[in-house]
Amino acid sequence: MDKPRALGPGTTLGMLGGGQLGRMFGLAARRCGYRLVTYGDPADSPCGQISDAGFPQSFTDWDALREFATAVSVVTWEQENIPVETVEFLRERVPVYPSVQLLRASQHRLLEKTAMRTLGIPTADFLRITSVAELQSGLVAFGGAGILKTVTLGYDGKGQAKLSAHDDLAGVWQRFRVSEAILERIVDFDFELSIVCSRFADGSCHFFEPSLNEHVNHILDVSLAPALRISAQQAAEAREMARTILEHFDVYGVLCVELFVDRAGRLLVNEIAPRPHNSGHLTIEACGSSQFEQQFRAVAGLSSGDVSMRSPAAMINLLGDHLGGGTAERWSEVFAIPGLFVHMYGKREARVGRKMGHLTVLADSSEEAARIGLAARARLFGAG
Ligand code: AMP
Repeated sequence: MDKPRALGPGTTLGMLGGGQLGRMFGLAARRCGYRLVTYGDPADSPCGQISDAGFPQSFTDWDALREFATAVSVVTWEQENIPVETVEFLRERVPVYPSVQLLRASQHRLLEKTAMRTLGIPTADFLRITSVAELQSGLVAFGGAGILKTVTLGYDGKGQAKLSAHDDLAGVWQRFRVSEAILERIVDFDFELSIVCSRFADGSCHFFEPSLNEHVNHILDVSLAPALRISAQQAAEAREMARTILEHFDVYGVLCVELFVDRAGRLLVNEIAPRPHNSGHLTIEACGSSQFEQQFRAVAGLSSGDVSMRSPAAMINLLGDHLGGGTAERWSEVFAIPGLFVHMYGKREARVGRKMGHLTVLADSSEEAARIGLAARARLFGAG
């Protein structure tokens, strides 16, 4: 893939997708004087709200895509469910980063895990499943239990089922309504971590401090960095895996590698996000250059910023389920907490499980930051 060429302030950046990741990218880029055009979501989407212009059309509206390509100098994305053919079409007209090969792999769990295997990067054991019989024998091979996942369009635990060989497998397979799925061995993990990293036109790779992630109902709840539980050796291993992935996929931009740490302390890659990640939001306040600033710097062919941490930090997600009693008085109390930063994404409708915003807290340790952030969320949205 061609390297990004240097684009200075005043240039227009194109964003595929209008969610909160595009919004935070746009806010970082606008601070430095770049313009932003969003494609694929309505004007009042989180990213549309802060864009100079938007194309609400679908990802297969070729006329609109052609017009979008002429309106921007470079294109990137904020979510991975963009059709590869859309990216290929745009690439004939305007540079698109971080990497179409990475997009293809991250859209398909089997391709992704097979690529990791080829690169010598450990993952959970997995099998391709195309029938109930294969599901049955796969579960037996994994000791009687496993997690069945759709190969495409799964995120935040959607399109997944934890199964045992005694379950009604025919019924489960019918509900999945797919011709192909992946069965994974259940990893008895000690904890989950992720590492956000970036690669630039000069080939240099840059790594944020890995964060420790706690999920509730398969959705990220809290991230901490740096985290006491992550050893220096594990952090170094995570960086080496991330570097291998960045170089293999010839990435110019940002990606996130999500990992399990098993009971023996070994790292296994679970998933790659070809973009900034929820677990990297704390870099906005905690680092000299955030994951979003790294993204626009990389795709605009600039140099890297300083990704080291200026303070320990924690990020607490605010989901639709949390938003209830958040009165203005309670918000006011939370805004008054020293070291706490409020981010809301401008979404009008609060649904269960929907990411509405987050809090980042800087403190003397990330564990202390998490305590302050969780207490603030409880104050905002708890009863009483
Ligand atoms: P995913 O959609 O693959 O990112 O999975 C969402 C969450 O489900 C992960 O962050 C884990 O908490 C859990 N999970 C997914 N795959 C496995 C696995 N093979 N073993 C244990 N837990 C898993």
